[in-house]
Amino acid sequence: MPAHMTLAKPAKGTAQKQRRARKRAADAILAAKSAIVRERDCNSCVVCFFPHVQVHHIKFRSQGGTHDTSNLVCLCAECHGLVQNRRIVITGSADDHLTITLRPPSGPGRGDARNAGCAGVE
Ligand SMILES: [Zn+2]
Repeated sequence: MPAHMTLAKPAKGTAQKQRRARKRAADAILAAKSAIVRERDCNSCVVCFFPHVQVHHIKFRSQGGTHDTSNLVCLCAECHGLVQNRRIVITGSADDHLTITLRPPSGPGRGDARNAGCAGVE
């Protein structure tokens, strides 16, 4: 490669500045989408209709969920916690049709290995 075509080393801190800029842009997009979602859901929890809400990703961000309004719903803090604990399962498109499933708490023999086999032990 000719000397005049060598790649310049990025200035110190450039990668960090770029990450921060991307984060600010993503936060601005989420804020704009959240405003749309709050208006669509009448600023109420889609499960219990409580009026103080957080915007939740139906498909979790950690699983590749987007900030698209079809993936965002309003939930109160309590229902949001139940969704995070998989006691409430929300599927579908928030812009079209949602399915909300309430799941009973896990107990002995229902996936909690710590409690399995405890019944009858004295
Ligand atoms: Zn709720």
